[in-house]
Amino acid sequence: MPVAFIDPMDTLGRPLHDLRISVTDRCNFRCTYCMPKEIFNREYQFLARELLLSFEEITRVTRVFSTLGVTKVRITGGEPLLRRGVEALVSELASVPGIDDLTLTTNGSLLARKAEALAAAGLRRVTVSLDALDDETFMAMNDVGFRAADVLAGIEAAAAAGLTPLKVNMVVKRGVNAHSVVPMAEHFRGTGHVVRFIEYMDVGHTNGWRMDDVVPAREILGMISARYPVEPISPDYRGEVAQRYRYVDGAGELGVIASVTAPFCGDCTRARLSAEGKLYTCLFATRGADLREVLRSPASDAELAEAISGVWRAREDRYSEIRSQVTIDLPKVEMSYIGG
Ligand code: SAM
Repeated sequence: MPVAFIDPMDTLGRPLHDLRISVTDRCNFRCTYCMPKEIFNREYQFLARELLLSFEEITRVTRVFSTLGVTKVRITGGEPLLRRGVEALVSELASVPGIDDLTLTTNGSLLARKAEALAAAGLRRVTVSLDALDDETFMAMNDVGFRAADVLAGIEAAAAAGLTPLKVNMVVKRGVNAHSVVPMAEHFRGTGHVVRFIEYMDVGHTNGWRMDDVVPAREILGMISARYPVEPISPDYRGEVAQRYRYVDGAGELGVIASVTAPFCGDCTRARLSAEGKLYTCLFATRGADLREVLRSPASDAELAEAISGVWRAREDRYSEIRSQVTIDLPKVEMSYIGG
């Protein structure tokens, strides 16, 4: 392969290391901050089956991404465990040379059933989203009456299957689940699982985001450390999204993802592939490059690499750093489409 395509840098000197692959835009939850029921209802046009990249296409494109420097792949969605046969995709991706970290983000609803098969297929670990432990709050957020206990059972099954270190993502929204921050920290202290408290972001357009709804990471840390003192620890690698902390008493680690109040665009090494094969270089992008067209043309792998590398080298996104009233009103794709 021509040397010019290898390890491309974008216009801000950021390399390409991580790839998030959305395998479906559908989800069985209707989290009010992500896929509100009023919009994602019976009339909503989800992607038709034939528009989705096949597992073969996803594997091919991942192999090409790995030649460009990607070492970490996250399968996401929508809810990735809703994609039929996703274990077969995991198994194919696990055998792509150069991918040394293969993980998946899920709402946990199908995890108790699928954890063992996913681990057997070669998945290394999982991140499970869970926004509260009490059913009143959790059901109000997922909006489909799903119980927290069933997600907790999924987390246990994943841990038993060896999908660790396991991360638990909690999006914190003021007036909705901020009261769950300390109980979540308390519940997972000492389990080896790492809770990451995420600032509610202005992704997409359907969630009616307002800055007033954001609980800043420093406020989240304040709530936790008032009960259980914490101290910062250094990031594992360039581009890590979470600021890491540990409990002073040795009960483990937690993280905060301050994408609104302390953006980390300068270190962002992530590309995103939508379920229909559009390549996005930012969660807040308005347009993606159509890789499905390239994949379904006679183009060679070298030509596919050239297309990807060209997009990456032209990349100048730093949305969260320049967030303002103007950028908030720009058209943006939904998180359920682009992949969280
Ligand atoms: N269905 C899977 C899940 O629930 O984890 C994967 C996709 S979901 C879009 C990925 C993550 O994005 C979840 O942890 C979700 O809570 C988070 N998320 C969605 N909308 C968000 C927002 N507006 N701000 C911050 N995080 C958000």
